[in-house]
Amino acid sequence: MKRKLFLGAMLLLSTNVLFFSSCEKEDTPSAPTVKITELGSGHDNPNDKIAYAGSDAHIEAEITADGLIESITVEVHQEDGDYEFNKVYTDAKYVGVKNVTFHEHLEIPAEAPEGEYHLHLVVRDQEGQTGMAESELIIKPASENDDDGHDHDDEHDHDHNH
Ligand SMILES: [Zn+2]
Ligand SMILES: [Zn+2]
Repeated sequence: MKRKLFLGAMLLLSTNVLFFSSCEKEDTPSAPTVKITELGSGHDNPNDKIAYAGSDAHIEAEITADGLIESITVEVHQEDGDYEFNKVYTDAKYVGVKNVTFHEHLEIPAEAPEGEYHLHLVVRDQEGQTGMAESELIIKPASENDDDGHDHDDEHDHDHNH
């Protein structure tokens, strides 16, 4: 008699455990949200959507990941071509974080052909969910970003405010 009661209690306990674990599963955090706030050739022009081959592109974005950030990937691909490159960020300041302002200077390969590109910022959380934002980006040849060989003629408006 006692034994039957014990078994019954065990059964009740295990169904309870099952119940609780299935309950927890329903509580999946929402997928990451990403918003690119700035993308450009530098802090003087933080949002001009232009980058120069062989130089850095300034990227700023607001990220929210209820499931905590696992990795952040920047993918850049040509609009009409096969050229593409990417960079994965798994810095300590991002991994395991819920809300963060992403601010990085992405190195544009010197051999990147000039033209129209597409940039994707993909955030993966620790639940395996992803969120993505995208932007257009123009890559210009390095020569157009060169200050050397630049004529210092007087027509140029030099800023002498210090
Ligand atoms: Zn910057
Ligand atoms: Zn694309």
